[in-house]
Order: sequence, then C-alpha cells, then structure tokens
Amino acid sequence: MTEETIFSKIIRQEIPTPLLYQDELVTAFRDISPKAKSHILIIPNKIIPTINDVSEDDELTLGRMITVAKKLAKEEGIDENGYRLIINCNEDGGQEVYHIHMHLLGGQALGPMLAI
Ligand code: 5GP
Repeated sequence: MTEETIFSKIIRQEIPTPLLYQDELVTAFRDISPKAKSHILIIPNKIIPTINDVSEDDELTLGRMITVAKKLAKEEGIDENGYRLIINCNEDGGQEVYHIHMHLLGGQALGPMLAI
C-alpha cells in the first residue's frame, strides 16, 4: 500500500500548510489538531505507509527525522524542559494517516507515557 495521503499534498504545498522545515528528505509542519501546546509532525517526503514498511535504504531519512525533531524542539524553546517523539503504527498503535509521521509533542508536562 503506497497510496498518497493528505500529507503528500502538504509536501507539494497543494494544500497551503505553513512548513516549519523542508529538505530533500523530510518535511515538518504543525498538527492540525494539536494534542499539546507544541505539536509538530515530521514526515518523510517519500511515501512510507508504516514503520513495518521501512527498509535499510530509509535509514538516512529516518535519522534525518530525528535531527530535524531536535532542531525544531530547540526553535520551539522546548528542548530544555523536554518533549516526546511518537510514531504510531497500524490500528493498535492508533495510526490514522498511512504515511509515516513522527509527532513532536511538548510545551507542557505530558504526563504518563500511555493512557490505555
Ligand atoms: P496518527 O494518529 O496517524 O499518528 O496521526 C495523524 C495526525 O495527523 C493527527 O494528529 C492529525 O491531527 C494530523 N492530521 C491529519 N490530517 C491533517 C492535515 O490535513 N493537516 C495537518 N497539519 N495535520 C493533519
């Protein structure tokens, strides 16, 4: 399954979403429905539906997602207090959009890791 999602349109700016970061590998923008004071999505430009679909060829891209998260956390001023990075996978993981995305959440105490 490598169908396009709304995120491909955001990457190409066919849907006008302000980008916080974009390079040849990844794109970052604010979540439309923020779950914390600061809630940013960092996604690969290439369509990778889920973490189950990553390959060794994607290691540079996945590493870039982390270094961009670090850079944006600093820009948001949340690096010192702390933040959380989340990638949901499939139904039990709560994934809604089938184009891998890393949630960068912070700006407040986030509480326990899971609320089941
Ligand atoms: P998931 O549950 O798949 O891990 O997270 C998907 C996230 O994408 C949700 O937090 C949701 O609010 C966000 N989202 C879905 N559609 C859009 C959109 O069109 N624009 C933006 N900026 N975020 C979106």
